[in-house]
Amino acid sequence: MNEQQLPKNIAKLQERVRRAAEKSQNGNSAVQIIAVSKTRSAQEIRAAHACGLTHFGESYLQEALQKVSDLDDLPLTWHFIGPIQSNKTAGIAPHFDWVHSIDRAKIAQRLNDQRPPELAPLQVCLQVNISGEDSKSGVSLEDLPQLARTVCELPHLKLRGLMGIPAAGADTLQLHQDFGQLRTALAELQTLAPDIDTLSMGMSGDMEPAIMEGATMVRVGTAIFGPRNR
Ligand SMILES: *Cc1c(COP(=O)(O)O)cnc(C)c1O
Repeated sequence: MNEQQLPKNIAKLQERVRRAAEKSQNGNSAVQIIAVSKTRSAQEIRAAHACGLTHFGESYLQEALQKVSDLDDLPLTWHFIGPIQSNKTAGIAPHFDWVHSIDRAKIAQRLNDQRPPELAPLQVCLQVNISGEDSKSGVSLEDLPQLARTVCELPHLKLRGLMGIPAAGADTLQLHQDFGQLRTALAELQTLAPDIDTLSMGMSGDMEPAIMEGATMVRVGTAIFGPRNR
């Protein structure tokens, strides 16, 4: 995209986030923007960093590792947000700061075992299937407490909270219900792990209801970088 557009998009986004945060269940507290840079070049990420963004989210491991390496001169925080197959954990564990998409114990165990012990623990969110669709990834609300207990026992992972993606095409009412359900689930888990604090929810098209329902992190691609080709 035209790089003149990037600062404008980012300013507009920050304003959207600020306005929604005023109406938030969290009482207008800060919302962290994660710039979703999947399919974007290292150069585009540099330009976004020059506009003040420092947190970047990636879904496709191979291209992500190349960018993490190309940009290691910048003080960036990297978030892995895509589906995780077992053969991806060895690449994710040493090169990311956060993982938002843990949905089963096996993946958590592998990330823990492969996290280099000299690094800070990997900050993790559990991805919850809030839409209730069988095809979507994410742990069910029913199985969530058990998975959370498992992750809390792993020394190289630090459980921070929950991530969720509503069903495509959900209307505003449904979005509020889905995001609200995630907020309730986090509150319940806080009885088990009082220091968890993160709700990763909201994207370009649904960040307002997500923030109003208490999102602490939004994952935003299109509203920053424009439409993706894939
Ligand atoms: C691609 C992606 C996003 C960003 O979506 P936009 O609609 O471009 O803002 C957020 N979260 C996840 C998990 C994604 O895969």
